[in-house]
Amino acid sequence: ATMREDRINKTKTVCTYCGVGCSFEVWTKDREILKVQPTSDAPVNGISTCVKGKFGWDFVNSEERLTKPLIRKGDKFYEATWEEALTLMADKFTELKDKEGSDSLGFIASSKCTNEENYLFQKLARSVFGTNNIDNCSRYCQTPASAGLMRTVGIGGDSGTMEDIATSDLVIVVGANPTESHPVLATRVKRAHKLHGQKLIVSDLRKNELADRADLHIHPEPGSDLVWISAVTKYILDQGWEAKEFLENRVNNVEEFKQSLEKFTLEYAEKHAGLSKETLIQTAEMIRDAEGTCILWAMGVTQHMGGTDTSTAIANLLLVTGNFGKPGAGAYPLRGHNNVQGASDFGTMPNFLPGYEPVEKDEVRSRYEQAWGTELPKYPGLNNHQIVEAIMDGNVKGMYLFGEEMGLVDSNINYVEEAFEKLDFFVVQDIFFSKTAQYADVVLPAAPSLEKEGTFTNTERRIQRFYQVMDPLDDCKPDWQIFQEFANKMGANWDYSHPSDIMDEVAKLAPVFAGVSYDRMEGWDSQVWPVKPNGESTPLLYEERFKFLDGKARLFPVDWTPPLQMGEEFDLHLNNGRLLEQFHEGNMTNKSEGINHKVSNPWLEVSHELAKERNLQSGSLVRLTSPYGKVKVRVLVTNRVTGNELYLPMNTTENEKAVNKLTSSYYDKDTHTPNYKETQVKMELLEKA
Ligand code: SF4
Repeated sequence: ATMREDRINKTKTVCTYCGVGCSFEVWTKDREILKVQPTSDAPVNGISTCVKGKFGWDFVNSEERLTKPLIRKGDKFYEATWEEALTLMADKFTELKDKEGSDSLGFIASSKCTNEENYLFQKLARSVFGTNNIDNCSRYCQTPASAGLMRTVGIGGDSGTMEDIATSDLVIVVGANPTESHPVLATRVKRAHKLHGQKLIVSDLRKNELADRADLHIHPEPGSDLVWISAVTKYILDQGWEAKEFLENRVNNVEEFKQSLEKFTLEYAEKHAGLSKETLIQTAEMIRDAEGTCILWAMGVTQHMGGTDTSTAIANLLLVTGNFGKPGAGAYPLRGHNNVQGASDFGTMPNFLPGYEPVEKDEVRSRYEQAWGTELPKYPGLNNHQIVEAIMDGNVKGMYLFGEEMGLVDSNINYVEEAFEKLDFFVVQDIFFSKTAQYADVVLPAAPSLEKEGTFTNTERRIQRFYQVMDPLDDCKPDWQIFQEFANKMGANWDYSHPSDIMDEVAKLAPVFAGVSYDRMEGWDSQVWPVKPNGESTPLLYEERFKFLDGKARLFPVDWTPPLQMGEEFDLHLNNGRLLEQFHEGNMTNKSEGINHKVSNPWLEVSHELAKERNLQSGSLVRLTSPYGKVKVRVLVTNRVTGNELYLPMNTTENEKAVNKLTSSYYDKDTHTPNYKETQVKMELLEKA
């Protein structure tokens, strides 16, 4: 930070919202945020920002911030000291651990918090409490994408950078809405499309803004992406358009894979994905004619019962066409939260230690056991979906959650709330008194990014530092400090004086972070993992090897899982997603005055056809009912959706409008990611416009 005479501080920070990872200067005077100033030094965004990064910061000064630890007494909470709160936590967690065993505890980490904080939290769960029951919210979004990539190319991250996307010949976006969810990335795609002749295909149920501009908008039947992607792959092979040399030299399992595609004919795709042969052939031809193809995808792919398989099918298509390991090509799962990539990278997963090393591997575990001086659990723990089930079954009794609004973002929230009520002891650590905190026994006041230091990892695997802008409010503390104090209450003897000490420890332990250090990420500098011991980044993966022992990728046969059908009376398909101005459930953005006045409450998007048939106008109030719950919401008649497909933004903190009152408890069969996008409802008119 540079101090000027007029006491304006200019501090580099990294956006706390989406996974694009924009960085910029925040200009402040004491706690007052004067402006956000982008600079050409920012590696991802240069001088661009979006409305959230530019105006979404006054939540840090919100009246509603938590300022003191709270302890429940009956139906009320009273303000407590840190000493009191941490002592109570140590007593209760120790009691549960001793009486019920280590695995009676569950730990839910935060994709909004730093890499260092996530690392410490998994260290706390594993080394202090002896459990692998730890997970983060990528379980709700992108775990299927990572799993699909691990099966095929070996690393669960973007294969290149946003520069590769911007310079690619052909960008295919599947089940994502970058204009609203990853705005600065979308701007780069739009520019490349408009000025540099980049071709664009968008596959989405909804005609989002990018689909409107695309050379081709594919509108498949809900939940049928795997079908059309596999059909295009088969067609390319049948025509002999595959990358023959690449397949021969760098890919295993080609023959078995070819056989697995047998049923995915154009006719099969016509029938099950509802797409014409011409559309499928045009897609195949565009891939054939492109020097390099990038495929970007998000929740429209992953939040299905076959989400991992569809992600795998995307990687298969890219392998068949030789689109890995060269600039301007590759697989790009678009990460949602600012640090959804980093939370998983740094080990808050039930099956992986930091850097995606399996907990079952003796060699890996013993490296950590030596460093941490304690024995570690040998088997994968429960993921967050399984933790909720285990609470219902009485097997998990204590939970520690930070920076995560499970009570609003989990699928089928009525069920999740029931689980919270069953917990013997529940700690929630956040910056606001969240919906989830209502169920807690202890609530701890944490510090948002502007009040601490740390690093975030964006969707490109780029690790970036941000600096402290202001002191923590009142009694608030950075999450990493809270974990350290709690661990030490439990007798752990941790001694980190700064987040850089934590990063140094990670660099020693996790090979993919070997050369990561705060010194090398000073100011606007960043590092992209895997980072070699000499500090060299790897922005483009797989140039020489895929991450398997023999260095070769694997084509991985997958089959189609048709989407969940809730029953005939639920005759409308309900899709959900984001609004540009709000972030996820909105618990930060809707406390930012700079943003909140720009948007109103979520509206249910209804097609013109359906509106006519049901006699609805924009403004009509309707009730949506699924087998799991009901919501009341107002209608917006629009041509963004068609036929019997509805769309409800997920950004709300109002329970009566929360889309997850309607979603089910079914999930992706490989990763337990909820099938948020497989929801059907019936609709009743309550009040005319
Ligand atoms: Fe922040 Fe994402 Fe907007 Fe960039 S695009 S300013 S990272 S919300």
